Amino acid sequence: MNLLSIQNPATLEIIRRVEADDEAAVAAKVARARAAQKAWSRRAIGERIDILRSFGDKVAADKERLAAITTSEVGKPIAQSRGEISGLAARIDFFLEQTEWTVRDEPVVTEGATTEHIEHEPLGVVANISAWNYPYFVSSNVFLPALLTGNAVIYKPSELATLTGLALSELLHAAGVPADVFVPVIGGGSTGAALLAQRLDGVFFTGSYATGQKIAEACARQLTRVQLELGGKDPAYVASDVDVKAAAAGTADGAFYNAGQSCCAVERIYVHESVHDAFVDAFVSEVRGFVIGDPADEATYIGPLTRGAQIEVLEEQLHDARSKGATVLVGGARVDRPGNYFAPTVVSGATNAMKLMRDESFGPVIGIAKVSSDDEAVKLMNDTEYGLTAAVYTKDRARAERVLREVDAGTAYWNCCDRVSPRLPWSGRGHSGLGLTLSKYGILAFTKPKAWHLRSP
Ligand code: NAD
Repeated sequence: MNLLSIQNPATLEIIRRVEADDEAAVAAKVARARAAQKAWSRRAIGERIDILRSFGDKVAADKERLAAITTSEVGKPIAQSRGEISGLAARIDFFLEQTEWTVRDEPVVTEGATTEHIEHEPLGVVANISAWNYPYFVSSNVFLPALLTGNAVIYKPSELATLTGLALSELLHAAGVPADVFVPVIGGGSTGAALLAQRLDGVFFTGSYATGQKIAEACARQLTRVQLELGGKDPAYVASDVDVKAAAAGTADGAFYNAGQSCCAVERIYVHESVHDAFVDAFVSEVRGFVIGDPADEATYIGPLTRGAQIEVLEEQLHDARSKGATVLVGGARVDRPGNYFAPTVVSGATNAMKLMRDESFGPVIGIAKVSSDDEAVKLMNDTEYGLTAAVYTKDRARAERVLREVDAGTAYWNCCDRVSPRLPWSGRGHSGLGLTLSKYGILAFTKPKAWHLRSP
């Protein structure tokens, strides 16, 4: 039997061992989903809505248990685990309200005896391959609209968020989603690869650029529709006219929430020279105030990194930055306690020649660079292979819009950052991904149009 060990990143203890799916088990699960999907899609959409509403009620009733599970395996501070589960409720409400009208048949034209209309059919059996950093969000962005529009979902939670994934599966089944319509497959990369060897009607992936490339290659072999939500190196620009303290508080939270392990975390900050020093002082004082500790403690803001190996990535980025002339103002090393802890780290004098400003850090470190104009900020913000989000802090909305129109990113923030709304499309450009989730477009993404030409005899 192939067992997956689940580790607590705050203590490095193994907390559970779970049986992983091998190739044969994955193939059998996909076959069961294939057999069950049509009946699910033929049910009235109102029935599917009621079932998913019941799932939402169950999540709300079970919030404390779910939060504790996630904190134990992902290391996310308990208040942030609860926050994510509350955010899931908003997503559920959005999809329950919006799906029915979004996928309704669209009459196009009637000319004489001929009528044309568009019908939105479900894709069929789709794979939902997920990351661990927001295990509720990145999975539900896919499985909620997929199930509501009549698809069967093969769900592979990240191996680092397996228990959360299994808990979500149990609640979906308890709410009435048939066990063969939402099917968890358990394991790491090899389980994911075994899933991609099956015939699927869509692959919806959240994870790193490196894995995203492998997913795209595997999907190309069978011409399977694929969506990729990948990493980022998201910039924030602090213009000359800001309230420095408010901008420092906002960007520090955007950089360090969830220990910086957000796809849309602020990963680099460009500050206008006229406010640079005051901003850096205010930013460092915010960071010094962060409570580092046991993620199960209510007061903890920075917990361990989920993936211990990421600490070596951070160390290498800081070594490279120091060797190229940057200054570490606070942090810069592991925290002296068991578990995957790294001190929140602020680096000034950063440049785009440094790995810290080019490669995704996905941890509690941030580089700050000084700029002398909005144009220079735009140039440096665009000097990246990624394109997920970008933020501008200024009192002047027109100035923010001018800058953000020039930046090639899927999401633009004025005086805010690290924020996702179910009402807006979530999409990355360049190495940040292909396709989108959320919004009405993230509902239609789980359907294929059928073009009807109807001629009365
Ligand atoms: P990862 O790429 O290591 O793993 C993601 C998933 O892919 C996991 O379930 C993993 O088991 C699976 N996988 C690995 N190899 C595979 C293969 N060969 N075939 C099929 N599946 C395979 O990423 P991660 O560490 O879980 O997540 C962190 C990354 O996700 C970061 O880059 C982050 O920015 C990104 N992310 C992006 C978004 C977004 O919305 N754009 C959201 C959250 C996270």
